[in-house]
Order: sequence, then C-alpha cells, then structure tokens
Amino acid sequence: MITTLLEGNERFVRETFETQKAFFADLAKKQRPTVLWIGCSDSRVAVNTITGTQPGEIFTHRNVANIVATNDWNLSAVLEFSLNHLHIPDIVICGHYGCGGIEALDNMGSDDKYIPVWLINAARARTRVDELILTQALSPSREERLQMMVEENVRLQIEHLREYPFVREAIAEGRLKLHGWVYDMESGHIRVICPG
Ligand SMILES: [Zn+2]
Repeated sequence: MITTLLEGNERFVRETFETQKAFFADLAKKQRPTVLWIGCSDSRVAVNTITGTQPGEIFTHRNVANIVATNDWNLSAVLEFSLNHLHIPDIVICGHYGCGGIEALDNMGSDDKYIPVWLINAARARTRVDELILTQALSPSREERLQMMVEENVRLQIEHLREYPFVREAIAEGRLKLHGWVYDMESGHIRVICPG
C-alpha cells in the first residue's frame, strides 16, 4: 500500500505536475483558497474529488464527525488563519451519511479512550433528533434516524462556529458566510442543509 502511494506520486509528477508547470509554479508562490472546508476524516469524502476543485482552492480541516469544538486549538488556529490571514469568505461544514462518528453517538459507553470524549461535542445532535422523534411521534428506520443525526450535527456545528466572537464579527460585517452540507455517498450528491 505505501509503495503504491509513492508510485502514485511519481505518476502525478509525470502526468499532472510536469504538464501543468505554470499552474503549480504559481501555486507554489502563494495560496488563495476561497473556501474553508470542515469535513469528516472519512476516506470516502475526498474534498477535491467530490467538489471538482483543484489544489489551492480549498483550505481544509478534517476530523471525526466534522466537529467544531471551541476548546479545540487545532481547529481554532485553522479558523483564525482562514479569516485573519487568508480572508476566506465562505466556510463549509460538510457531514456525510454513513458517518461512523455519528453512529458511535449511540455507543458512548465504548472502551475507546478518546472517541467518546471527542463525540461529546456532537451529542446534542442525537438528543435533539430523539426529542423530535418523540414529540412528533415519528417512526424512522435506524438508517433514517442516523441520517437525521448527520444533518442535525451539521446544524449544531454551525452553531458552534458562531460561538467564536471573531466569526460572529466577520458575519456581521458581511465578510463571511457559513454553509452546512451533507455528502451522500450512495448518489455522489451534496445536499445543502443550511444555505449560507
Ligand atoms: Zn464521518
């Protein structure tokens, strides 16, 4: 597997890099991404592939279940860099159906050391969906309930983004829009959950 990656890199250099020399030389000088993508680490949600974008277009942060936690210095630094230095005007939070992180919200008592702690930041998506099911007397299948949780988690993480004062300020000044999306691995389509 690892040698396959290095062989793939040689192929990339030969077939793509060497044939688009001006493009990559320009990129090497400066990046000008116009979108910050906060997505899941899931290997099937390949950002550039599913959005038809090129290197240099999307500044990316990925973690388990596309979570925004205001005590996460990693994401906080990414956000600060995106807004203060790259002046990115759009942030996308993209969840995906079939998310293992969201499924694990039903298994918070597992023996894993870090995953349940991390997922506390998404737990409200589960309780909100279960409340909705109860109060509206819905009877979703297991799959449908999980899909509702994936969508609710995107809404929740957008709320978490708004907890950052500098994010709220950028929105108020018209410099920033937040977008909530869900990628459907079965159809390949991206569904807009929260339009910006
Ligand atoms: Zn996922």
